[in-house]
Amino acid sequence: MLNGAVSFNANKNSTDKARFIAITGGVISGLGKGVVTASIGLLLQAQGYNVTPIKIDPYINIDAGTMRPTEHGEVFVLDDGGETDQDLGTYERFHGKNMARENSITTGQVYRTVIEKERNLEFDGKCVEVIPHIPQEVERRIKELGRKTNADFVLMEVGGTVGDYQNVLFLEAIRQMHLKGDPVAVVHVVYLPIPKSIGEMKSKPAQHSVRMLNEAGIQPDFIVARSEKPLDRVRMEKLSLFCNVHPDDVISDPDMESAYELPALFEEQGLTRRILEKFGLQHKPGSKEFATWKSFIDGIRDIKKEARVGIVGKYFDTGDFTLEDSYISVMEAVRHAAWHNGAKPVMQWIDSKAFEKDKQRLSILKDYDGIIVPGGFGGSGVEGKILAIQYCRENRIPYLGLCYGMQLAVVEFARHVCGMKAAHTTELAKTDCPVIDILPEQRKNVEQKHYGGTMRLGLWPARLLEGSLVRRLYGKPEASERHRHRYEVNPEYVGALEKHGMMFSGVSPDRRLMEYIELKDHPFFVATQAHPELTSKALQPNPLFVGFIRACLANGRAAHARAVMSRAWC
Ligand code: GLN
Repeated sequence: MLNGAVSFNANKNSTDKARFIAITGGVISGLGKGVVTASIGLLLQAQGYNVTPIKIDPYINIDAGTMRPTEHGEVFVLDDGGETDQDLGTYERFHGKNMARENSITTGQVYRTVIEKERNLEFDGKCVEVIPHIPQEVERRIKELGRKTNADFVLMEVGGTVGDYQNVLFLEAIRQMHLKGDPVAVVHVVYLPIPKSIGEMKSKPAQHSVRMLNEAGIQPDFIVARSEKPLDRVRMEKLSLFCNVHPDDVISDPDMESAYELPALFEEQGLTRRILEKFGLQHKPGSKEFATWKSFIDGIRDIKKEARVGIVGKYFDTGDFTLEDSYISVMEAVRHAAWHNGAKPVMQWIDSKAFEKDKQRLSILKDYDGIIVPGGFGGSGVEGKILAIQYCRENRIPYLGLCYGMQLAVVEFARHVCGMKAAHTTELAKTDCPVIDILPEQRKNVEQKHYGGTMRLGLWPARLLEGSLVRRLYGKPEASERHRHRYEVNPEYVGALEKHGMMFSGVSPDRRLMEYIELKDHPFFVATQAHPELTSKALQPNPLFVGFIRACLANGRAAHARAVMSRAWC
């Protein structure tokens, strides 16, 4: 690597149309680099540019699909079936655009390609080495995506923090791109702690992280300063001086009620204008897209009415701090739909295992406007979830089941309405009554231990039954949603379930796969084999969630149940 950091390069020596913005992070992980990247993208989009974000993750996994969500956050599934990092979800929700597999790079993918090329003699007999071949492959992927998407800007979010051994090669790719004359700007996101004992915002860790970035040969153009509070003048000047960045390019990023407020805060501080200036472009004030976003944000600030949603899962297995990340798309979809319905979302985690220990506790479900059972794997807390679903069905509490939440609703209905006592999913038990079962092609994958990327993934269409609630909610005869599962409703039991009143209101075009269920004579009992939360965007909420929240508001049970919030972690 070169000694002496390179700074911004506006020369357009390359033949690519795209300009590149790298977003790196320092001090601690979990700073919300994804939200920073998505916000910058939104602002550039609002200026009329075509923006392509790309997430670069340093792990060896080929994709996020083989990682536990409690370890790394939600696995975000794309239309094309890519199992990616949750940051791609953030980009989609902010930009209102769908991503593809190529918007995600992992170390595993990069090495695999380089090794495959070596095996195919594509290196002309050269010695294949980490440097330069690995950073070159990273650069090739970034540029190819830029060309393919005809991007004006490619935003490259580098996972991890500077100083991590793992992301050095990605930083090296950025340094090399810059050196070769590609127009690259670098935004470095840092954290400024305010230790309680001192009561003052400290900038030293941020300064050190910039120094580490310098050691990798990179000088940031912008510093985004995450902290509990807004950055004051003193800190701003200090960061400017010690990090070698113009004071106007030190941007404050304090804690906010909603992440969706960040673009407006960046715009106010002149970040878009400064970024464009670096690339020799002019900032146009008064964009319509930005005005739409601004009025969306202003609209949600004044909301008083609440929609109280309980999310029933097996949470004690995961620890308190990992929940939000593991179910981020579900939470965001609830937020989008609540705001769309003029309500403030209030979400609470409810541990299903508590119901297994004591059924009396089920009565707390009455204190919510509606209940969601989200996706999941394995047996932990499952009987508790089934009890909760039964309680919602019998007590007419709005219920939305997502993937596992639909499979377990089918098990519940089979057991308690159809009298099939042994009904279960074969994911958990060998049973005489496998109402949920694995498809033959999936069984083969499991038997051969082909786990990575082999679930039913990505967009799958469903025909919606005339006269059904889901047909009304989607407002069209066919809907496509994203999937991620191995098990399905067993077609052999469909007739019996229907006879007892379960409506299969959405099925695959070949009628083999049951995609939606609903119950008549219930205010809202809808579940889907898909993950509709994955397609919800800030400005385009998912119809199923919109309908669910509408039913929650109509339910209005929470009005007499304010006390629940204090005893919700049952
Ligand atoms: N475990 C279930 C399956 O594999 C459900 C998966 C999910 O909820 N995403 O089919």
